[in-house]
Amino acid sequence: MSKTWHTNMQHVLDENGELVAMPGSGRRLWQYLGSIVQAVTERGPDDREDQTPLRCRRRPGRKRCNGRILAMIPDEDPMTIHWFCPVCEDNGVITGWQGTLWDRRRFI
Ligand SMILES: [Zn+2]
Repeated sequence: MSKTWHTNMQHVLDENGELVAMPGSGRRLWQYLGSIVQAVTERGPDDREDQTPLRCRRRPGRKRCNGRILAMIPDEDPMTIHWFCPVCEDNGVITGWQGTLWDRRRFI
């Protein structure tokens, strides 16, 4: 198992909820993490599927990993999004995603 990325979306948002200025590579990484938040939060409440439409961002040996990211909010840890690439085992946890521009939950 490769190293787990621990990320908190609040660390990179300004007072308006926008991504703070940072170099392109960092920005792409955070936008990727944001896409994971979006993919998980736009699911319906009965949708138990962990699959997301997102391709893995890693390029092991300069060849793009063709894994698709699995992501979920575990029942036992509802504040955290866990994500995982089944091919290269890149994985991480995302906190501080609630109420961000990527949070697509609908409050009905
Ligand atoms: Zn991968």
